[in-house]
Amino acid sequence: MTSILNADLHCHSVVSDGTLTPEQLAARASANGVELWALTDHDEVGGLQRAAAAAKAHGMKYLTGAEISVTFAGETLHIVGLGFDASDPRIQQGLMTTRGGRGPRAMEMAAGLAAVGIPNAYEGALKFVGNPELISRTHFARFLVESGVCKDTYEVFRRYLTEGKPGYVPHRWATLKDAVGWITQTGGVAVIAHPGRYKFTANEEYALFSEFKAHGGQGVEVVTGSHTVAEYVEYATVAKEFGLAASRGSDFHSPDESHTDLGTLPYLPGDLTPVWELLADRIQ
Ligand code: AMP
Ligand code: MN
Ligand code: MN
Ligand code: MN
Repeated sequence: MTSILNADLHCHSVVSDGTLTPEQLAARASANGVELWALTDHDEVGGLQRAAAAAKAHGMKYLTGAEISVTFAGETLHIVGLGFDASDPRIQQGLMTTRGGRGPRAMEMAAGLAAVGIPNAYEGALKFVGNPELISRTHFARFLVESGVCKDTYEVFRRYLTEGKPGYVPHRWATLKDAVGWITQTGGVAVIAHPGRYKFTANEEYALFSEFKAHGGQGVEVVTGSHTVAEYVEYATVAKEFGLAASRGSDFHSPDESHTDLGTLPYLPGDLTPVWELLADRIQ
């Protein structure tokens, strides 16, 4: 398959921190011309059966997916898994462990917010949660917008939910080795999500790509809603340097919040190997 394909291999439903159901996302992707689609909820595969059925109903090709939270060099990064066997206990157990710390973390976040005069944020965030095992910073952000503390979720992250801010709680997620292992052992391809978003030094980024490859990682997001056009070029070069396949995905969360809609990004540059070429026999 060529790089000229409207593939959208990164988005979120109510099963993590999106606001649409898997069915609504599939309908929206299809209406926007997506030909190959994956739902990649954070640390969760609970929406995939519904996603697969909805993709089929719309005649869209489909890959299983998830976006795994990882701690590397003291920072959080995300690894997207595509095409794995979602019924395999190895990925299910791994994701369950990764989700495990979210409840206690959320209570600590609420305590930090209460200390600066924002009470009851845990209860407030819970109203926006679709999956009790997946309370995330995004749900707190929606509550702070609803309660008038901030005008939009971007302002909430900037003022309250990023490192050094009152609602930020450092957290230890999965290791890079484990996340890549769960994906590859269950037949999938591991992809570094939106590398342009991380605050790594050049040396740390080199270490990330080297270790990722050494663990069996095979792909990197080049064209994503989180990258600038300059970053498409930058990470196309990195993909070639490290011999990685390239992925494309909007990272769509919500019609009200996301700048990039499903299926609307530019195609992958033609000189890269698309991840879907590696996953030809996993496409449903
Ligand atoms: P969590 O997994 O609970 O740490 O939440 C991470 C999610 O918050 C990401 O997947 C994004 O959806 C959202 N997010 C993280 N950083 C920002 C930011 N600076 N601005 C807006 N949304 C963000
Ligand atoms: Mn998210
Ligand atoms: Mn992400
Ligand atoms: Mn994402």
